[in-house]
Amino acid sequence: MSLTEKDEKYLWHPYTQHKTAAPPIAISKGDGALLWDENGKEYIDAIASWWVNPFGHSNRFIADAIYQQLTTLEHVLFGGFTHEPAIRLAEKLMEMLPPNQQKLFFSDNGSTAVEVAIKVALQYFYNKGEKRTTIIAFENAFHGDTFAAMAASGISFYTQAFSGMFIDVVRIPVPVKGAEAESYAALRESIQTHQVAAFIYEPLVQGAAGMVMYAPEALDELIRICREHNVITIADEVMTGFGKTGKTFACDYLRYQPDVMCLSKALTGGTIPMAITTFTQELFDGFYSDDINKALFHGHTFTANPTGCAAALASLELLQTTAMQDHIARVHKRHLQFQERIEKHPKVSTTRVLGVIFALEIKIDSAESYYGTLRNKLYNFFIQNGVILRPVGHIVYILPPYIISDTQLEKVYQIVEQALEIA
Ligand SMILES: *Cc1c(COP(=O)(O)O)cnc(C)c1O
Repeated sequence: MSLTEKDEKYLWHPYTQHKTAAPPIAISKGDGALLWDENGKEYIDAIASWWVNPFGHSNRFIADAIYQQLTTLEHVLFGGFTHEPAIRLAEKLMEMLPPNQQKLFFSDNGSTAVEVAIKVALQYFYNKGEKRTTIIAFENAFHGDTFAAMAASGISFYTQAFSGMFIDVVRIPVPVKGAEAESYAALRESIQTHQVAAFIYEPLVQGAAGMVMYAPEALDELIRICREHNVITIADEVMTGFGKTGKTFACDYLRYQPDVMCLSKALTGGTIPMAITTFTQELFDGFYSDDINKALFHGHTFTANPTGCAAALASLELLQTTAMQDHIARVHKRHLQFQERIEKHPKVSTTRVLGVIFALEIKIDSAESYYGTLRNKLYNFFIQNGVILRPVGHIVYILPPYIISDTQLEKVYQIVEQALEIA
């Protein structure tokens, strides 16, 4: 039996309707921006394997750090114990995060980072004896697949089977160009009509919605309104974090910093699952008490896994090298050139670029669903041509590892251009 046949026998894949989906491609090797399947076919990973891999596959520098840690202290429980990798990682992140972020809480993935953020926001007010139980989130937001994260998410595809079982969430429009005033007004109204604990948002780019972008000034205004009303702001930087927007965090484009930040995906360079939720001192102090009931009773068995911390430290070190910063600037520049070349194409309705993120929308007659026919046709075309891209409906986006070469990037652009001819 081939790997694909064995897979079909045993495995259940994410976001997959097994009856209609094509069999998965078995990948056996990765190097830099490239992946190879079991038959030796080569692919360019133009979406950094779901946005986790900025520094390339099978990175030796991170692998060595992981090996070192695995053979020194692979894991120890974090309840009642601590260790140097966690502390060194905290010190490193403190240098990089906005200065108001003072406390770090570890978990395992983006969804749990969000889950922790929402639970802290709700319990903060509970501990104060203040009834605030509503969360505000954007339309078409994506914050993950655990229950509170799913409640905050607005893409019905992911959540419809569970509607009616969620915490209270009010949705406001994204302040894309032209819709800013509507978004501010909806936020103000939600705050007036509900007992709002927190506002959660993907800063500047909504990834899963199809790389929908909006301006820092608009987000600053929304955060300012939240501050006026003592509403906790939660920046979900799970996708945007660690260089994707051209700065370390999307929040670095803003005047007003969030109270909470959610980090994962690129944190360990795409090696070991790990997430961190960061908080202001004020939020931490809301749990600091002689009363044990005021503590945060949340934790995960693998919390602050030392090997994950070592991988994160190595990744952050790589991110901060001049070479890596040059790669980010180079990919950004190439994207801008490609944008100029493609934006007038008769099949293209809009294009957008931020940092290493490029997106274009294909002109369509009727609304294309998230996993619709055009989407599948494009996806298959890319795969046939050895490029991994996962369009969102009629939106094609590129978010490559930063180290992708100019030649590889040019191939990705050309395949996207060719795809427009079949769209
Ligand atoms: C991917 C993502 C998540 C969920 O992360 P998982 O690791 O898949 O649980 C949450 N928020 C944003 C913005 C994401 O892009």
